[in-house]
Amino acid sequence: MNKLKSKEISAPTMNGHRPDLRIIDGAGEDAGAPAVKVSRLRKTYPGGVEAVKGIDFEVAPGEVFGLLGPNGAGKSTTIGMLTTTVQPTSGSAQLAGYDVATQPLLARSVSSVVFQDAVVDRALSGWANLDLHARLWGVPAERANRRIAELVEAVGLSELIGRPVSSYSGGQRRRLEIARALVSSPRVLFLDEPTVGLDPRIRHELLDVIVGLRNREHMTILVTTHYLDEAQRLCDRVAIIHEGQIVALDSPQALLAGLGREILEFRVEGSTDAALSALRQRGVARGDSFAIGARVTVPLHEHATTEALAVIESERLRVSEIATRVPTLDDVYLELTGARLDEAA
Ligand code: ADP
Repeated sequence: MNKLKSKEISAPTMNGHRPDLRIIDGAGEDAGAPAVKVSRLRKTYPGGVEAVKGIDFEVAPGEVFGLLGPNGAGKSTTIGMLTTTVQPTSGSAQLAGYDVATQPLLARSVSSVVFQDAVVDRALSGWANLDLHARLWGVPAERANRRIAELVEAVGLSELIGRPVSSYSGGQRRRLEIARALVSSPRVLFLDEPTVGLDPRIRHELLDVIVGLRNREHMTILVTTHYLDEAQRLCDRVAIIHEGQIVALDSPQALLAGLGREILEFRVEGSTDAALSALRQRGVARGDSFAIGARVTVPLHEHATTEALAVIESERLRVSEIATRVPTLDDVYLELTGARLDEAA
């Protein structure tokens, strides 16, 4: 049992509703508990869609953990269950030891979420939004002011924070959303597709902000994404999720290392099976080489490209569009599921 010292606070009302929020002072929390622990978690929506089919994972305090998968894989449903907005069908999930189903208020008190949809009030200034959120969370005024000033600087909004949010660009608003989620100093931050809908330059800027926050706040972050570069750049470990199941879970480096340093790709005129078996018999391809349509993908592991090319030539394989490249998480996904991340969905 967690012993928790908490006190009820008098939070301001919002739309006439008084949120039942508490300040948690941390004493008595289970310090040894994983930041996130998910066991056999499952969600079947009414109507029968099995969105999440029994997943297990743990996230250590301070870790950045990614759920990577295409649209429809079950990422948002998982975040919904962890943030207590979606009721699990079975299994369990805990945040810092608090069960999301049986202790939802406590689970929420140690976490924050940035959803894809905006929640900030566009008519108010950035500062007023953050201040309102701090008051809802019962953060004492002086601490709130210090915290807000720190966060505004960390997310690079100092110049704009007095302006109405309606004047912010998409990327600036997203940064404000992140600052808002951090006002309560959560132990676990959920980011649901944080850069979706932003143009590439703004995406990269936002990723820099997240990496910077990660380094200074030492909090646990669980991020969902269908962008490979995002997962590779941000995450200590990544769970690759496909049709509601985790099909691989490791550090991006370990997932990639399984494929070796280089990948050879080419198109075959004729039978791809014959080409693959020739390359395998000659020892330059392993069981993890595969063909989709006319395109053959061969992780080279310890072999040099020249060895593979020599085999292609001596076996008289009719190939075109030969190229080598470094492996990406897309190759890991492709090998595991037979689909590309940006094509699946
Ligand atoms: P992702 O976040 O990876 O795109 P989701 O968790 O949103 O995936 O969706 C997983 C599956 O659950 C999809 O097939 C989706 O259509 C379905 N789904 C999501 N929300 C609901 C809902 N409220 N009711 C019924 N089906 C849903």
